[in-house]
Amino acid sequence: LALTHPHFDHVFGAAAFPGAEVFGAVGVDAVLTRARDREELYADAVRNGLNETVARESADRLVPPRHLVSGEWTLDLGGGRQVLLANVGPGHTAHDLAVLVPGDPEVVFCGDLVEESGEPQAGPDAVPSHWPAALDRLLALGGEDALYVPGHGAVVDSAFVRAQRDALATRFGVSP
Ligand SMILES: [Zn+2]
Repeated sequence: LALTHPHFDHVFGAAAFPGAEVFGAVGVDAVLTRARDREELYADAVRNGLNETVARESADRLVPPRHLVSGEWTLDLGGGRQVLLANVGPGHTAHDLAVLVPGDPEVVFCGDLVEESGEPQAGPDAVPSHWPAALDRLLALGGEDALYVPGHGAVVDSAFVRAQRDALATRFGVSP
């Protein structure tokens, strides 16, 4: 499992895969372990409509990643398939992890650094000043022809990611 960032809708449920090797950007482990942060994940889930009992169970069963990625990590999945885990943040959060799956086309899992179904959500834990640069790193990973899988919404192309990068730079007042 690759946890793209420590938000409830991207980390709840990991306990359903006992024995799985869990990866995350360095620092995610601390967020998922601290009582105050776990409580915030619970509260955010309930604010967003998750049933309180389910949210409580999920917050109590968070799985901190055992494998912490700083920089890049090539992971051999066996069967001749390798994937690249890349700590491309901060941006959407302080701990944004992307996954590049080689192939034709290449596929980049972006987490919530990219959203297709609406404007990217920037909460109190976002790092807006660094967000556009994180999208530059995503684009460098995948290149022009990759498919980019956003955290929410439909798969997009590099032109969409570039446009969202520019929109975020304007929105947050980050010079190009
Ligand atoms: Zn998120």
